[in-house]
Amino acid sequence: MVLAGKVALVTGSTSGIGLGIARALAADGANVMMNGFGDPDDIARLCDELGAEFGVRVEYDAADLMDPNEVRRLVDRTREQLGSIDVLVNNAGIQHVDTIDAFPTEKWDAIIALNLSAAFHAMKTAIPYMKSQGWGRIINVASAHGLVASPGKVAYVAAKHGLVGATKVAALEVANDGITVNAICPGWVLTPLVEKQLEDRARQAGTSVDIETEALLAEKQPMLKFTSPESIGAMVVFLCSEAATTITGSPLSIDGGWVAQ
Ligand code: NAD
Repeated sequence: MVLAGKVALVTGSTSGIGLGIARALAADGANVMMNGFGDPDDIARLCDELGAEFGVRVEYDAADLMDPNEVRRLVDRTREQLGSIDVLVNNAGIQHVDTIDAFPTEKWDAIIALNLSAAFHAMKTAIPYMKSQGWGRIINVASAHGLVASPGKVAYVAAKHGLVGATKVAALEVANDGITVNAICPGWVLTPLVEKQLEDRARQAGTSVDIETEALLAEKQPMLKFTSPESIGAMVVFLCSEAATTITGSPLSIDGGWVAQ
């Protein structure tokens, strides 16, 4: 358990991929700062259960990461409450699907703010501390859409490509400070973010979610199955391990062959 006693901040960890990552880090011994939206009672129960199951400290902060000040405060509060920040996982993200001519400007601003700028503000705040302690792991959850495009997702694709670029720059800047910075690029993962897209598609096409699920996978992924949040969590734990010391600046695909085509 390389992460025993270490502290991890996982943004957007009340649901989906972030929750899978937080669970995997806690299972490996890390104390975890959770973040994201949801019912306060459900989130409190989730934190208690995670902490009890793995014998680690699990705290929660409701910071809205659209606001740069909130991002900075979240990083600072992680250190204040849990004593350090050793692993930073920038995961919180949203989606909106529309062609550019119809794309609402406020959706563009929101997606860039959360999916791209929040990761910049978090890295900017965490890196000086990680440098001072000579160890850190930063993992940015990008997407297959950080490497290739799809129509209808201009803000998401721009933000995720930007996040892959920012990951590379950060990796170069801290290459000899004991810090690695990588991006994970998942294909389809069945989470609320994708469930909403499936429901929208079924409504627009007059079909069912089951039919649209098959179509969605077949359009992009040679391998016709979803990646699980648990698999992405395991990848994050590996990136924190000794064996991954020289993996840095890499966009790592976990996408059923999506970008191999
Ligand atoms: P999700 O909707 O299940 O989870 C998103 C999380 O972000 C939730 O915890 C939510 O509360 C939180 N969040 C939303 N707005 C926030 C805000 N303003 N401030 C703080 N937290 C906020 O989605 P997911 O599919 O688990 O997505 C997680 C990440 O994975 C995103 O960055 C997404 O782009 C990326 N991703 C998802 C897929 C997929 O197929 N699901 C594929 C590739 C990449």
